[in-house]
Amino acid sequence: MRRGDAPSQRDNINGQPETASIRNALTVDVEDYFHVAALAPNIRRDSWSSRESRVVGNTHRLLEIFEQFDVRGTFFVLGWVAERHPQLVRDIAARGHEIACHGFSHRLVYEQSPEEFREETLRAKNLLEEITGSAIAGYRAASYSIVRESLWALDILVELGFVYDSSIFPVRHDRYGIPNAERAPHRMSTPAGRSIVEWPLSTARILGFRLPVAGGGYFRLLPYGLTRWGLASINRRELRPFIFYLHPWEIDPGQPRVSTGWLSRFRHYTNLEECEGRLRRLLGAFQFGTAREGLVQIGLLPGADGVR
Ligand SMILES: [Zn+2]
Repeated sequence: MRRGDAPSQRDNINGQPETASIRNALTVDVEDYFHVAALAPNIRRDSWSSRESRVVGNTHRLLEIFEQFDVRGTFFVLGWVAERHPQLVRDIAARGHEIACHGFSHRLVYEQSPEEFREETLRAKNLLEEITGSAIAGYRAASYSIVRESLWALDILVELGFVYDSSIFPVRHDRYGIPNAERAPHRMSTPAGRSIVEWPLSTARILGFRLPVAGGGYFRLLPYGLTRWGLASINRRELRPFIFYLHPWEIDPGQPRVSTGWLSRFRHYTNLEECEGRLRRLLGAFQFGTAREGLVQIGLLPGADGVR
């Protein structure tokens, strides 16, 4: 850990987060390092089972950190992981976190047919409901792959009983994104005229641009101060909660290295050793809860139905 990333009194000077009235969403996409879309060209699917799995240990590490800060979050669990590690899902739920769905195969939505998407999403949802014994309300697509061409997926999510989605990244990126999509959490119409609550991945507004500051590679690549400023601006200037996301492998500098192109190498491996320290600073600086709680707080979802 760099000295500059050590927990600091300034993060939490009065023992209270500075934006105490707004509860932001803390989310984790529970998958292994070999599931990541950026590495997919270099990792055959049929090799997944024979690779060293680190998701259980890394997720438990996150659970310990969250416990230390007394925060609950939402864990979007990949069906492939849940099938092999059902106890991990139970452990997450037992600590009071929300379990949500990250699909089954980590195939990108826009590379699937609607029938394939329906089948695999239902399989993942049923599995998670069987393991936890409770209804799964939230969904997040592999690599935010609900884009303009795959908005049909939202209709299938409604059909399958999901009440909110968090898959749309309102930025321009080579693999995902709807650059001009609404930035705030909102209720949106689906192509077939239904409606679903969408919590887009958070971006900050800087000089007319949208800066993705809310997690993952951006959290590791951008200076922590910029991330913190961007997230605080969503709370203070826009008076809205942000949604933050991380993957268990992002706090694991010891993960096996996969040989891949420079861009993917840069995105996947930069600052892994600093990520846990930054996460701790962030947890000390802002107030967090589950995505579902956050949506209840801003009135987009009803609060009565078993919300913690
Ligand atoms: Zn993922």
